[in-house]
Amino acid sequence: SIISKKKMKKNNKKSKEEKEDLSSKVFALGSQYLAVERLGKGTYGTVYKAKLRGTDTYYAIKKIKNEMDDEGIPSTALREIAILKKMKHPNVVNVIDIAFNNTNIELCLEYCRYDLKKLIDTKKSDHSFYNVKFIKNMMYQLLKGVDHLHSHKILHRDLKPQNILIREDKWILKLADFGLSRVYSIPIRPYTKEVLTLWYRAPEMMLGIANYAIGLDIWSIGCIFGELYIKKPLFMGDSEIDQLYRIMKVFGTFNELTLPGYKAFPYFNQNFPFWKGCGLRNYMNERCKSLKMDDMAFDLFEKMLAIDPIKRITCKEALNHPYFEDVECTCSY
Ligand code: AMP
Repeated sequence: SIISKKKMKKNNKKSKEEKEDLSSKVFALGSQYLAVERLGKGTYGTVYKAKLRGTDTYYAIKKIKNEMDDEGIPSTALREIAILKKMKHPNVVNVIDIAFNNTNIELCLEYCRYDLKKLIDTKKSDHSFYNVKFIKNMMYQLLKGVDHLHSHKILHRDLKPQNILIREDKWILKLADFGLSRVYSIPIRPYTKEVLTLWYRAPEMMLGIANYAIGLDIWSIGCIFGELYIKKPLFMGDSEIDQLYRIMKVFGTFNELTLPGYKAFPYFNQNFPFWKGCGLRNYMNERCKSLKMDDMAFDLFEKMLAIDPIKRITCKEALNHPYFEDVECTCSY
């Protein structure tokens, strides 16, 4: 009980600090924004919920530490942020305003009630809401958003449920955090102490292939598709090698057939254990509890998770897959 008292004291102190912090929070974006809540810490900085003074409108303000060099904001970062601002699409989070000062870059974003991880966690037992129709709707919007980025030659490179936001009104999905991964390069550790997740990372990236292509994003989308069904991340590795082994245990140790030229990849090791692979269908059957993945869904899923990135389906092809023939999309285009 002494420990729990100490813990309570510590927590009280922490929440007090957070409260004090918030009331005195000043945004470079201007004093019209009043911080009301700390929403989370992401890869690049802290996100606050802010109220526009005198209105009932809320925004999310992302504060990114500008630690890049002594001469202000690098032009590459400015160029990328300009791209972010131009990427208008119903499934891409709207950047309303941008401000800079010496220490921070601030993005004012439309406020979204959920991210996909939060939505899965809070709604997974609500079967009338969280069902195969809902998954199809989410996947359609996700592919629409990523297709928009890809058609502008932008890769997300860090697609995961935490940076896929959902608005509560009509369940509109919004991609966030894209482009920034190019501005800031994906760090080994995010801004928080958490280790950056590898769970959505394509196998070729772990094998050290440097030429990043759209296949990276498609792999992540495939992992998210699977996660929507099993309500847990598909491959939860705790290191790059563990992540790779988990994938090989399902698809088999890579060979010339599944990944042509694999032996020349920088991090390929002749001593990788041999796995025949349990097969993706078996892997899913074992894990899908309340929601069964039908053959049509599985066909698309499998095409997203082709080991050879060249064979992976594109967003456009995926959107035209028969799986989406009966989609009830809540977003209008
Ligand atoms: P990020 O740096 O984008 O990963 O953001 C960290 C966390 O802040 C996310 O997981 C979300 O929960 C939250 N967040 C980011 N952007 C928004 C937004 N536009 N609206 C609401 N919450 C957000």
